[in-house]
This record gives sequence, C-alpha cells and structure tokens, in this order.
Amino acid sequence: MSGDGIVIVGGGLASQRCVETLRARGYAGRLRLVCGEAELPYDRPPLSKELLAGELDEAEVGFRPARWYADQRVELIFRRAVKLDAKRRRVRLDDETELAYEDLVIATGGAPRVLPQLAQYSNVHYLRTIADARRLRTELREGARLAVIGAGFIGQEVAATASAAGAEVTIVEAAPAPLGAVLGEEIGRTLMRMHSDQGIDVRLATKLEDARGNGTVEELVLSRGGTLACDAVVVGIGVAPDSGWVGTSRLGKEGVLTDVAGRTEVPHVFAAGDVTLAFDHRVGRHRRSEHWDAAVRQGVAAARAILGERPEPAPPPSFWSDQHGVRIQYFGYADLSDEMTIEGRPADRRFAVIYTRRGKPVGALTVDDPRAFARLRKEIARADSGNSSERSNDELHPEG
Ligand code: FAD
Repeated sequence: MSGDGIVIVGGGLASQRCVETLRARGYAGRLRLVCGEAELPYDRPPLSKELLAGELDEAEVGFRPARWYADQRVELIFRRAVKLDAKRRRVRLDDETELAYEDLVIATGGAPRVLPQLAQYSNVHYLRTIADARRLRTELREGARLAVIGAGFIGQEVAATASAAGAEVTIVEAAPAPLGAVLGEEIGRTLMRMHSDQGIDVRLATKLEDARGNGTVEELVLSRGGTLACDAVVVGIGVAPDSGWVGTSRLGKEGVLTDVAGRTEVPHVFAAGDVTLAFDHRVGRHRRSEHWDAAVRQGVAAARAILGERPEPAPPPSFWSDQHGVRIQYFGYADLSDEMTIEGRPADRRFAVIYTRRGKPVGALTVDDPRAFARLRKEIARADSGNSSERSNDELHPEG
C-alpha cells in the first residue's frame, strides 16, 4: 500500500455514491475527489424542474454540506483532470499537478452535444450544470419566446417549466416522434400531446436549418414552417460521455467500457455513471444509461468492486421525468418488445403502457400512476428473474 489511496474523478452523483459507499463499508484510506465544477457535488434532476422554476434554492440541491467531506476525510480538489497515465497510475490535472492513485474511479459524466451553427449566439443555452441553470433562469420571463431544440426528456422538462413560468414555448424536433426508438412512435406522439395541450407549440419532423441574428439569435430557419422568432434557444439534443481526458482506446472510445461491477480492462481503473458503457447481460452488449438510478447503482458497484466484494446483478434500466405536474416513470426494455398495450386513457394524462415480448412483460411506462408503476415493475422483475441466468454478471467484456 502506497498511501495514495483512491482518486475519484468527477464530483457528480456516481462519484458521491462511490465515496459514501467506500466510507460506509469501512475503507479508511486516503480518498480524493476531483470536482470539475466550482461546486460541492450536487443533484442534477432539479436543474430542469424545481431549481429552474425557482422552487428550490441552489443550496438545496447539494448532496452534503462541506462539513461532511471534512468529517469523512474526503479531500475535495476543484480542478479538471486532463490526462490519465494508467501505466504510472497517475492523473494529471489542469494546473499541471499529478495525483498518484492505488485505485481510480472515472465518473466524469457527460457533456451536452452542441449545435455548431449556434455557437456565436449569446442567448443559446445547454443544460447540464448549476451554472447553466442559473443562466437559463434569467430567460424564463412572462411572454419570452423560447425555442427548445430537441424533445428528449430534458428538452421536454425545460419546455414544461418555461411554459409554467409564462414563456411562449416552441419545441422543434427532427424526428416524427420523440423517443420513438425506445418507446415507440405512438407513445412518443402521445407524450408530445401533453405539451400541446398545455399551449406549447410542438413542431415534429422539423429540422433546424439556420439561425439569424446579431449576437443573439432572433429567428431560427426551420426545414418546415418557415422561420421561428425567438428571444432565447435551449438545445437538448443529447449528451456525449466526458471521457476525452482518458485518452486511451483500451478504455473505449464512445464511453468507458465496464462490466457490471464498474471494472474496466485496465487494472485499478473503475468507472461509473453517464461516462460509462456498462455491460448489460440481458442484451449481451455494452449500453449507455444516462439516468439517475444507473449512476447511483454504478457508483456503489465501483466502490464495492474496489473493496473486492462480489458484484450484484444490475436491475433493468429505469428513469423518471416530471412534466406539467405529472410524473412519467419507466422501467425495463421497451426497445426489446414485440407488442404494446395501453391501460387507461392518455387524454386523461393518467395511463400505463405495458411492453411485452412473446407475451411476457419486458418494459413499462406510466404517466401519473405510481401504483401501476410499482405493480408493473414487480411483474417485469419477476419475468426477468425467470429468464436471466447468473452466467454473464461476472464476465468482463464477454464479446471481447
Ligand atoms: P454527472 O452528475 O454529470 O457528474 C459528472 C461530474 O464530472 C460533473 O460535475 C462534471 O463537471 C465533472 N467532470 C467532467 N469532466 C471532468 C474532468 N475532466 N475532471 C473533473 N471533473 C470532470 N435522470 C433521471 O433518471 N431522471 C431525471 O428526471 C433526470 N433529470 C435530469 C435533469 C438534468 C437537467 C440533467 C442534466 C440530468 C438529469 N438526469 C435525470 C440524469 C442524471 O442526473 C444523470 O444520469 C446523473 O447526474 C449522472 O451522474 P454522473 O455522476 O455520471 O455524472
């Protein structure tokens, strides 16, 4: 033991859960957390919901007060990692210092994909950090015209929050139905109707062609429907793993490849959260999961793997989203289904979608129905435990 201990690079949700688990399970060595933002670790879901709406203060989204890190002997380093030298077991930071480690956890999350044609405009927003939310909040005025490009869940949540704040919101989405590849086109369109019912102008199958303005975007040129005048633009077209600093293809180019326990192919290097492509034994390949539940589970798993504990099987993916006062919840693998049924009436904004494969439930999406969600989740988990074998959970990158 060198005394260098564990270095965790990130400072988000997966890092936080990793640190908490290490201390809770008795790790007494040196623990350093490299935080890429000038903030104590905080929770992101409120950024597009309560924090953006002004219902929560910034202090309320932090995971723990500064005192907790001191009490737990977690050294916080507010720097960005710029290079990994896995052979020498060192991480270089942007102030040229080097941190030696016994074990490293990569948990640097993701960065929003950008639209280069909007780069020169000051009223274009992305939403990933508390600083982004702070900036975006200043645009949510009564009557302000806000264009949201991309109808993924973050785009939809921003649209709902902005509309509730009195902004005139237009959603521009290139696909004929958002999230169609996962949830199916019908459900994608159903979710969009919830927005149009609340007065949001929804433009599907519409691409951004160009933008015009002098320093700020004044109008967007769209592939259908001409131009769209706006005061501000929010772009929500997905997230790319923030793994550029890792710089070695052995860890993966499109995200850091891990097994179910967060182990990578490189000794003493682990990864967790949105930055990973974790092996999913149910589909037999590595998958990205950019959701809160996965980041928590993977942060805990990486800590346990460092401590030499056996990995727990990963549950199927799940997430939630809050829009227009209703909660949307999802569990399982809708994309593997061959049939779908709807319980309830989407027009009532309270319904459940059950995705089945060969008659067995594989996924569920519910809108404003937590009881149906709990029931379906159980049914899917039961069907899943009947199907799955112990086989692949311990295997590292079985497809080579
Ligand atoms: P992050 O929380 O992104 O943390 C990564 C940290 O690493 C960041 O602080 C980043 O600055 C830092 N970093 C990056 N590069 C470096 C570097 N080189 N050196 C040092 N630090 C670095 N999920 C849900 O299931 N439901 C929701 O309702 C929901 N809402 C969301 C709303 C918003 C606005 C956002 C952005 C996400 C939401 N999510 C939601 C997703 C969820 O928050 C993420 O899956 C989760 O935060 C991922 O945790 P993470 O630790 O992997 O990454």
